Amino acid sequence: MSQCLWCGNTYFPPLRWAKLFSFQEQRGFCGRCRSKLHRLEGPDLCAKCGRDLKQLPEAFVSGEVCTDCRKWQSTDDPLLWNRSLFSYNAFMREVMTRFKFRGDAILIEAFHDEWQALYKKYFKGCIPVPIPLSAERLAERHFNQAELLANCLPVPPAPLLIRPKHTEKQSKKSRSERLSSGENPFALSEDASMYTGKRFVIIDDIYTTGTTVRHAAHALSTLWPAAVYSMCLAR
Ligand SMILES: [Zn+2]
Ligand SMILES: [Zn+2]
Repeated sequence: MSQCLWCGNTYFPPLRWAKLFSFQEQRGFCGRCRSKLHRLEGPDLCAKCGRDLKQLPEAFVSGEVCTDCRKWQSTDDPLLWNRSLFSYNAFMREVMTRFKFRGDAILIEAFHDEWQALYKKYFKGCIPVPIPLSAERLAERHFNQAELLANCLPVPPAPLLIRPKHTEKQSKKSRSERLSSGENPFALSEDASMYTGKRFVIIDDIYTTGTTVRHAAHALSTLWPAAVYSMCLAR
């Protein structure tokens, strides 16, 4: 018997051969909670952002990509592709909110094995680069969810990105004003040049418009990377 990390009900977890002989308990979501998650897998994913094309109206599909990605492709896109474990549906939104604002880092445990498998399938050997939080956010939450996710991967992450403090002139603008003006909130950390020419996978909790990971990818592009991808828990 196991206790569901989300609702607290006890349930019988599926047996896994790898876990059978270890005494480590596999904790996760019960069947009912699990069924509310939409796993992004199979042949119908957008080749670029990894969303489920079957869930989109036809007008938002353009060949093997979604129309959002078609727009990115028409720019000088530094990101090769993104993959995510789950759709950002109403239930996933609740899960992420608890994870993000209540500091419920234990929820990561529920997705640990699948998260690792996703990395091995698409990004094997890439250096994980977590999206940094601003100093104010970090003070408020005490942890960075992107960093926690990056730490779950089999390759040690490299904190290559920083958020430089805004100058007085910049801080008069709101965050959305800064983003829409195309201003990049990220810069490279001091010792980043050690990583010149490597392959990177940017790690974040949610891929929404794709703007954040692209800002991050642009910042990494001065390292002449061999490839830049992103991997987020939800899309
Ligand atoms: Zn449950
Ligand atoms: Zn797409």
